[in-house]
Amino acid sequence: MAGRKSRKKAEPKKYMPATDKVILLLVAHADDTEFLAGGTVAKFAGEGWEIFEVIATDNQRGSFDLPAKQLIKDSEAEALAAGKILGKKDVIFLRYPDGMLRDYRLNHLREKFIKLIRTYKPRIVFTFDPWAPFEPHPDHQMVAQAAVEAIGFSQNPKFYPEHFKKGLKPHLVAEVYYFAKANVHADTIIDISNFIDQKIEALCAHDSQMKLTIDEMKLALQANKVAPKTTASLDRNNYRGVIDLMVKMYCGEIGKKAGYQFAEAFRYELAGGEIVKAIKDMGLE
Ligand SMILES: [Zn+2]
Repeated sequence: MAGRKSRKKAEPKKYMPATDKVILLLVAHADDTEFLAGGTVAKFAGEGWEIFEVIATDNQRGSFDLPAKQLIKDSEAEALAAGKILGKKDVIFLRYPDGMLRDYRLNHLREKFIKLIRTYKPRIVFTFDPWAPFEPHPDHQMVAQAAVEAIGFSQNPKFYPEHFKKGLKPHLVAEVYYFAKANVHADTIIDISNFIDQKIEALCAHDSQMKLTIDEMKLALQANKVAPKTTASLDRNNYRGVIDLMVKMYCGEIGKKAGYQFAEAFRYELAGGEIVKAIKDMGLE
């Protein structure tokens, strides 16, 4: 995974999964997975799942100081490094302009996602929850809506039959884990106590994004006139301690709800919903 040579172009041609333990992460930005599901991804990777991440944008606006070209290059290298730490098998970069996904039609992105689902054949997809409230980022909103529709239609051969000429087949995603900043509909808490250090390590691999996180936190503290001395001492080049503290606070709060030290929360969906759950519970052969 490391290095430029192994980077994938926008549309991988063929992928044959070794097992059905395949996960596809559909996200907008280089660090989305690490922030929202890093511990869970590390946990699944440890259980032998093959994990692929699709990053829809090129991250060119994720910094106050770096030029766009530099940022595109750096953020991809950072995403690959973070992927390695969490045990992802590969990262696919779609490279749409950061912050501008809305300039593209929803159906355009949906078709890309359906093609990727049919290519990687995931049992599980992780993505943004389109029905979680208070999501201000348009790229997150676009990915969420395109992803939920792609998950809904990828098994239907009437959608984009041109895919089948290239050897792809319809594919049903069996399980979905939705994440969100304000995950008020979360119904599934995953214990990541043993993976919190891996999550923090992977987040800190996103050097450009962690510097931005400190820059934005500083602005917010200044705007609210909170803790001026502490704010002045925040150093964007030395973010490790702050990120460690933030992540442990955030994941600690989620963990409390289920009696875990650290956790991540998701809204979980099973294909077939309540009927499948009921039949599963009946224990039928
Ligand atoms: Zn994002």
